[in-house]
Amino acid sequence: MPGDIVLLGAPGAGKGTQAQILRQRFGYRQVSTGDLLREHRANGTELGKAAESFMQRGDLVPDSLIIKMVEGELEGPGAVLFDGFPRTVPQAQALDALLADRGRGLPRAVYFAIERAALEARLLGRWTNPRTGRVYHETFNPPRVAGIDDEDGGPLVQREDDKPETIAKRLDVFQAQTMPLVAYYAEHGDRLVTVDATGSVEDVAHQLIHAIGVEHAH
Ligand code: ADP
Ligand code: AMP
Repeated sequence: MPGDIVLLGAPGAGKGTQAQILRQRFGYRQVSTGDLLREHRANGTELGKAAESFMQRGDLVPDSLIIKMVEGELEGPGAVLFDGFPRTVPQAQALDALLADRGRGLPRAVYFAIERAALEARLLGRWTNPRTGRVYHETFNPPRVAGIDDEDGGPLVQREDDKPETIAKRLDVFQAQTMPLVAYYAEHGDRLVTVDATGSVEDVAHQLIHAIGVEHAH
């Protein structure tokens, strides 16, 4: 069985897009904390209410809430792709401990390297299927019909936090709080690989599949 993988990268780097591809081709389970939080908000849960103001401002939701939410997702078959988690060093430490408690190996991390200047255009043109989390881009990866999901035929939406002021804030937060994880995974067990996330979706997928060594898993 392939091991658990952390997709590490700035908002807009392409983590969700690649997670979808790996899930379909190799049967990983995808745990996206952003998708889970949006689902909690849509369902009006206590966690959803607690997370709302942080998400609207582009801040991180407190570690304790996130770790508790992820703990509930760890049971189940197969290797997991963590998308958008961990985002802080305490979250990474907690994930290592939670996996060790369950007798699983430590996850490896893939860093999506891309310059900040490319990210704003990706986020401003992003359209999402809120039912499945599938993402498109109006120019770089458009659906067959604008505003409509290719798969379920339902409407696509733009995220409320994909607007210029909130994007700038989220990119600052990434730099300050999440970038230290690159060193964390390199220094604690040599678990980091890097892909160049500036290429096409297919190009990044190719690098990623090679980097995590699943190309012969099928
Ligand atoms: P993340 O999950 O890292 O925030 P997404 O996967 O949602 O990023 O991608 C952000 C936006 O960029 C989406 O609109 C997506 O369609 C687009 N995108 C993803 N990968 C690429 C790529 N390799 N080239 C161009 N656009 C991309
Ligand atoms: P994303 O969909 O990954 O871009 O996440 C959207 C928002 O959800 C972020 O801006 C944060 O407010 C919150 N969020 C998602 N994942 C995490 C996490 N691991 N830690 C803290 N906040 C998170």
